[in-house]
Amino acid sequence: MKDMLWLSFLVAVSFSVFACAGTTGFSRSAGKMTMPEKWDIHDMNRPLPPVVDPGPAGPPAPAPSDALILFDGQNLSRWQAAEGGPAKWKVENGCMEVVAKAGSIRTNTGFGDCQLHVEWATPAVVSGEGQGRGNSGVFLMDTYEVQVLDSSNNRTYADGMAAAIYGQYPPLVNASRKPGEWQAYDIIFHRPRFDGEGKVTSPARMTVIYNGVLVQDNVELLGPTVHKVRVPYKAHPDKLPLSLQDHGNPVRYRNIWIRELKEVE
Ligand code: MG
Repeated sequence: MKDMLWLSFLVAVSFSVFACAGTTGFSRSAGKMTMPEKWDIHDMNRPLPPVVDPGPAGPPAPAPSDALILFDGQNLSRWQAAEGGPAKWKVENGCMEVVAKAGSIRTNTGFGDCQLHVEWATPAVVSGEGQGRGNSGVFLMDTYEVQVLDSSNNRTYADGMAAAIYGQYPPLVNASRKPGEWQAYDIIFHRPRFDGEGKVTSPARMTVIYNGVLVQDNVELLGPTVHKVRVPYKAHPDKLPLSLQDHGNPVRYRNIWIRELKEVE
C-alpha cells in the first residue's frame, strides 16, 4: 500500500511537470529546461552561445521531389511585396537581394506546418554593427521570425543573433559562417492551434538546423516575435504566407523550398 501511494505521488509529480512544460514555453533543449520568460527581451546579459565551426558551405542543397520551389534563382514569381504588388527585390546571379526600402516580401500562397529550406548570405564587405549588420529575417506565417544576421564576431543581444527565434530563444550554438559565405536554415515548423474563442490551445513549435547544426530543438514559441516586446498569441488563419524581411541591409537569398507537412492535431 505504501509503495502504491509512493508510485501515485511520483506519477502525479511527473504529470504536473510535463503538463506545466507543455503550456509555459519551456525549451527541452540539450537535456535541460530553460525558460525564455526568465530573461528580459533583448537582455544583453543573457549568455551568448558557444561558437561552433560548421565547416565550409557546399553547393545549394537539392530539393526533394515533393518540395515546392519558392525560389530557384530565376525570378520572384512566387513572391509579392508585403504591402501588395510585385516584389521589388533584385534578382541576379541566381540570387535575390534585399533592396533597402523596397519592403519585405512574402509568398503568394500561405503555409502552415512545414519543412523549409532557405540559403542566405550577408554582405562580404562588413558594414554596421549589432542589429545593423546583415539583418533580415525568415518569418513563418508572416509572424514568427528566425533571425537572419551577420553573427560572425558581431556582438548583439543573444535572442537577436542569427538563428535566434527573435526575442525568445537564442540559438543553442553560434554556427555562423563568415560574412559573404552561404548559410543555410532547415526549419521544421508547427503552427499554433486556436480554439473557437481564439485562445491558443497548442503553441507554435520550431526546430532549426543552421549550417547542418541543431540550434533550436523543438522549442515552444511564446507568441509572435516582435522587437522589444513579447506579445501574446492572437488567433490567425491556418495558413499564412512565408515572408522575408527588408531590414535595410543587402542580404542575399537563394535556393528556397518548402514541404508542407500533414496536419496532425
Ligand atoms: Mg531580422
